[in-house]
Amino acid sequence: MNMYLIAVLCFLLLSWLLSCAASYLNARAMRPEPPEEFADAIDAATYAKARNYARATMRHTLISSTTDTALVLIFLLAGGFNWLDTLIRAAGFGPTPTGLLYIGALALGSWLASLPFEVYHTFVLENRFGFNTTTLRTFAADRIKGVILTAFLGGALLAAILFFFQYTGQWAWVWCWGFATAFSLALTYVAPTWILPLFNKFSPLENEELRRTITDYAAKTGFQLSGIFVMDGSKRTTKANAFFTGFGSKRRIALFDTLVNSHGPEEILAVLAHEVGHAKLGHIRKRLVASILKTGLIFFLMSLVMNSPALFRAFGMEHMSIHAGLVFFFLLYTPAAMLLSVAENALSRRHEYQADAFARQTTGRPEALVRALKSLSVSGLSNLTPHWLAIWLEYSHPPVLDRVRALRTSGENART
Ligand SMILES: [Zn+2]
Repeated sequence: MNMYLIAVLCFLLLSWLLSCAASYLNARAMRPEPPEEFADAIDAATYAKARNYARATMRHTLISSTTDTALVLIFLLAGGFNWLDTLIRAAGFGPTPTGLLYIGALALGSWLASLPFEVYHTFVLENRFGFNTTTLRTFAADRIKGVILTAFLGGALLAAILFFFQYTGQWAWVWCWGFATAFSLALTYVAPTWILPLFNKFSPLENEELRRTITDYAAKTGFQLSGIFVMDGSKRTTKANAFFTGFGSKRRIALFDTLVNSHGPEEILAVLAHEVGHAKLGHIRKRLVASILKTGLIFFLMSLVMNSPALFRAFGMEHMSIHAGLVFFFLLYTPAAMLLSVAENALSRRHEYQADAFARQTTGRPEALVRALKSLSVSGLSNLTPHWLAIWLEYSHPPVLDRVRALRTSGENART
């Protein structure tokens, strides 16, 4: 048996096993009673609901991830990759359009396969626990806009990558790296004005008291802010959040309406101060640099394996091509992707503690952030005592209990 085939099969099974194990252990790790720090924030009935939510989410993950993996394995072992290639080659287009059609068809197939699970997640699971506010119309519109955006933006990026690998020889990976970096920077730049408004409405914050609290804080910490907006997050979910968009003097803060409506100014300021912390401590820049380096690594590794005839034999291909090589690379890349994401999550959790400490120092009110964190995790029915494997693999934020304890520990940067 071909070594590449053995590797891909092992990686697929291993990542399926790990994700199922993490999900199962995480649901089981939820203790029968809430931690004592939460005694004042959660009642027995809500805590029981949170445990049921954790179990229901776990079952959904097990079923969707098993179906996903099974479909990929069946397609692979039944010779689906070569079948599709033969079908599209018969149309007689050049290498780049053929590649676009090939990867487009695979992406469409995988999107269609995941659609029933998304529908179930939104309209059954999230609905049963009272989170879902998405109408069928919003759901359909989101999917249609998503597909059109992906087809245009993803298609343009993919066409460039196929072109570079076809025509620029051994330095193709450098061309791809440069192009993909410029492309994603440009997207980040236009997203707040062109892309986000396609999905949500942003209106200036009207609450005078809150507006003053935020502008005073921004002035005090020397943080430039070009606007404070409220986003209609309640259009899809009752879960609350806040985030920044844009760079430098164009920076805006977007608060979910669900956050504004259910929290006092002190708590909202604490959440905002945490976000300011990310910007002031250079986390956003560090994440950007890390993701640029990762893109370079991906294209470099890609250029190493893409032309190996054994790789194409592993998938039963009659012809070698850039487009099929790209797809096979991503199947082989699974373990590296997992290790990188573990490292990224660890870095991100560290940044969360640092941003919390920043909010504590600059507002002087750690308890306001504690209250906000507690109420956000209770209303989101979060797992208050997650399992270490799930944290290690999937958590970009530390468990809320650890954050609360760190905020209450006196002394500078206790957990950073
Ligand atoms: Zn954060």
